[in-house]
Amino acid sequence: MAEFKNNWTRQEIEEIFYTPILELIYKAATVHRQYNDPQEVQVCTLLSVKTGGCPEDCSYCPQAARYHTDVKVHKLLPTNEVLEAAQRAKESGSTRFCMGAAWREVRDNSDFEKIIDMVQGVSRMGMEVCCTLGMLSASQAEKLKEAGLYAYNHNLDTSEEYYDQVITTRTYKNRLDTIDHVRSAKISVCSGGIIGLGETENDRIEMLQTLSNLPEHPESVPVNALVPVEGTPLENQGKVSVWEMIRMIATARILMPKAMVRLSAGRVRMSLEEQALCFMAGANSIFAGDKLLTTPNPEENQDKKMFQVLNLKPRKAYKEQEISQ
Ligand code: SF4
Repeated sequence: MAEFKNNWTRQEIEEIFYTPILELIYKAATVHRQYNDPQEVQVCTLLSVKTGGCPEDCSYCPQAARYHTDVKVHKLLPTNEVLEAAQRAKESGSTRFCMGAAWREVRDNSDFEKIIDMVQGVSRMGMEVCCTLGMLSASQAEKLKEAGLYAYNHNLDTSEEYYDQVITTRTYKNRLDTIDHVRSAKISVCSGGIIGLGETENDRIEMLQTLSNLPEHPESVPVNALVPVEGTPLENQGKVSVWEMIRMIATARILMPKAMVRLSAGRVRMSLEEQALCFMAGANSIFAGDKLLTTPNPEENQDKKMFQVLNLKPRKAYKEQEISQ
């Protein structure tokens, strides 16, 4: 059986990460089959409920107010509009609905009350409801849990060492504290990163070490490839190769055997064959819908075709709970 632990050493991770690629895919596919149904892929929809105007300086993000991008800023959407979008996502096969707001942190104000209403509404639809709202206090995490929040996304983005090259308006410790609050409130943790920010392979390995050595592995680990956006400091970054994505996905799969490893941003630039290799390497979750917050994503029809060709089936909502009962 695959090893289940959270004391991975740097050397152990390096050995996995630098395994020749076809051998690495084989190893990851083997681990994947021990804990997951390899035909099953979770389909999530991500909606930006508040877009742009963010005070943070994440250098990859078109929603930061300080960069001049084409993002159309909008305030928090009305609750009924969000619930209608969730209903449409459900009808087209998504089992997880994630709401993202471009905030530095959650404030205890009327917008947070509206988010609570949205969480309650989506939860009543029988979908797994997830939010990504920035930093969260312990009491806010508990309030969200009470409202029915199933998961919270808070990515580490990169290694601790490289973090201040990407973001200067908050610290790595801030990130880890929010993850801790989410975990303490018994909300499922979704945390991963982005490659292609100019980091080294060492940074990628270090980030995977931090994630896999958290007291409990995150239940979801999104692996994103940077989609450079004009107007952001990283607009000229080169394209991440599919092999780099596969290496990250496969290593994450081996280190965190039960996590949902999500093939996230950058999928729009991949062929069906390249995505198939990512699934082979242990990815078992995707975002559906033609937009990922503000960047493009494959269209619904293309994904339907991919599921048919690869014989994949969407994972049911709340399956983790069924397994643990
Ligand atoms: S990634 Fe999030 S926190 Fe950073 S600038 Fe964009 S919206 Fe703000």
